[in-house]
Amino acid sequence: MTENSVFSSPILGRQLFGPGPCNPYPEAQLALSLPLLGHLDPAFISAMDDTSEMLRQVWGTRNQRTLPLSATGSAGMEAAFVNTVRPGAVVVVAVNGLFGERMAEVASRHGAEVVTVEHEYGTPVDVERVVTAHPNPDIIAAVHAETSTGVVSDIKALGENKGDALLLADCVTSVGGMEIKLDEWGVDIAYAGSQKCLGVAPGLAPFSISERAFKRRVERPANWYLDLNLLGGYAGGEPGGKRTYHHTAPTGMVVSLQAGLQRILLEGLDNVYARHAAAGEALQAGLEEMGLRLFAEEGARLAQLTTVEVPDGVDSTAVRKYLLDKYDLEIGAGTGAYAAKIWRIGLMGHNATTANAHMVLSALKDALANAA
Ligand code: PLP
Repeated sequence: MTENSVFSSPILGRQLFGPGPCNPYPEAQLALSLPLLGHLDPAFISAMDDTSEMLRQVWGTRNQRTLPLSATGSAGMEAAFVNTVRPGAVVVVAVNGLFGERMAEVASRHGAEVVTVEHEYGTPVDVERVVTAHPNPDIIAAVHAETSTGVVSDIKALGENKGDALLLADCVTSVGGMEIKLDEWGVDIAYAGSQKCLGVAPGLAPFSISERAFKRRVERPANWYLDLNLLGGYAGGEPGGKRTYHHTAPTGMVVSLQAGLQRILLEGLDNVYARHAAAGEALQAGLEEMGLRLFAEEGARLAQLTTVEVPDGVDSTAVRKYLLDKYDLEIGAGTGAYAAKIWRIGLMGHNATTANAHMVLSALKDALANAA
């Protein structure tokens, strides 16, 4: 045991402006302190139904199989591939960052013939190259909002040109922060995470699969826990279908997600997206005024996750430590080869305000002037 209680600083003071998690919406935070429901309690079943219905609204889908999986976004990625990839299936993966790389790895572990379409980091997916990479792929996969680079890609255009393939989209950093219309855009399988623009703690992976994709599913996936045949009952899998016991769902987290989604829908999706856009714009304009260079290509920059180059001669780690020590403020480093070269600043969910953008800018100015 450490000498600090769990309620001592720094836990109470941290401000999370990294690539996620963000500070949760207050409603989602409060819901975590409610008494727990049992996972078979009718009140929990109703909370799950309500949560799944609100996820459909935020995602722009009528997919019946839309639900929060009991695991983080990575399990959403795993579930997407394990339920749809048969050995030898052709999966075209657009890779323009770390999470596209992971998709390719997951698909290959499930026996796919993976065709990767590589892009320079910081650039969006080139739709033409991706849809012509193979004459008849089973699946085309791409990341909507690449958290490793701060780049948004055109999932709608992929959907328009996918042919007979299933379109699989990683929506971890996009859902709840920018427009997504799964049905209109032709996305067949989507997964996300609770901890980013949905403004809830990490631990759930919202997931949605179309009827078309479900019909093509693997009958007996290698991963038992993420087998949609079992999970389907939690989303009202069959019309009028009966729920069956599968596992002890994290009821407290689901109720927290329910509260976060209610908050988003009460604010209104368009207002939420405008708030994210305004916050990102203020942050990016301020960074450029400070003489810093944004990493993501102009025109493809995410508002909710800004990537900025670490200036020559500046110690990236020292600046991040200064912000944490002096301001209790967390920003993220880059990933892989970009670990020391870029910072990643998130303005997601509850954090996405122009006031926060200015607060981060002024703390960063101080850190650049005074960090060792
Ligand atoms: N995909 C993207 C785009 C992400 O940003 C992340 C996490 O940052 C993941 C997948 C993995 O999600 P998790 O860390 O919740 O497992």
